[in-house]
Amino acid sequence: MLKEKLRERKLRQGLTWAGLPLVAILGWFYPWLGFLLLGCMAGAVGVAIFRGRAWCDWMCPRGAFFDLFIRPLSRRKAIPAFFRSQKVRVFMLFLIFTMIGTQWYLARGYLAAMGLALVRLLTITTLVGIILGLVIHPRVWCHICPMGTLAHWLSGGKNPLFISRTCTGCRACARACPMQLKPYEYRLEGLVGDNDCLKCGTCVAACPRRALSFDSGESKRESGLVA
Ligand code: SF4
Ligand code: SF4
Repeated sequence: MLKEKLRERKLRQGLTWAGLPLVAILGWFYPWLGFLLLGCMAGAVGVAIFRGRAWCDWMCPRGAFFDLFIRPLSRRKAIPAFFRSQKVRVFMLFLIFTMIGTQWYLARGYLAAMGLALVRLLTITTLVGIILGLVIHPRVWCHICPMGTLAHWLSGGKNPLFISRTCTGCRACARACPMQLKPYEYRLEGLVGDNDCLKCGTCVAACPRRALSFDSGESKRESGLVA
């Protein structure tokens, strides 16, 4: 069942990643495609209100692209704490929105120029994300992506990941996590309280003790807290 879910995830990612070249390449010829970026931004924030950072898992074309194409080539090093710091995230948010605002101001209401500004931004940030992905880890960009940051702030307590005390601390979950989170660290709390969780379920499938679950009842049964 879990393996099936992961297969489904791969299939979905196999469809959504195509949105990235659609905008980042074709957008240079058809600038109005840049406005699709606004839909992606709204999606990331909208989904976060109800489901946490689930959008970033497979609905975001760039996230899917990183998992499918950059992960096999990446050095997969530990993501430096720098990329997780709130200061860096806030700086990136400010930088990207300032860039959009400035370019839209200079476009003076000319829609093609406004669309092209979004295409340009997507292209540049994707190149940065690819370089970081190859040199460090495929999902580094997802820690400093402005939409990811907004989703991170809105994600608290949404669609929580439970962990039971049957966890032995083997760390297989952390090795499998695309965001390099450490679910086992929350064993005593019973709830993985990291807002960067993408709700992908990779750790759930990787856990040999079945200690992780998005279903609180299942987690309690595994831990023997309920019959
Ligand atoms: S994989 Fe399971 S048993 Fe191992 S550390 Fe993670 S939650 Fe605990
Ligand atoms: S903690 Fe588990 S569900 Fe959350 S991003 Fe990591 S692997 Fe996916």
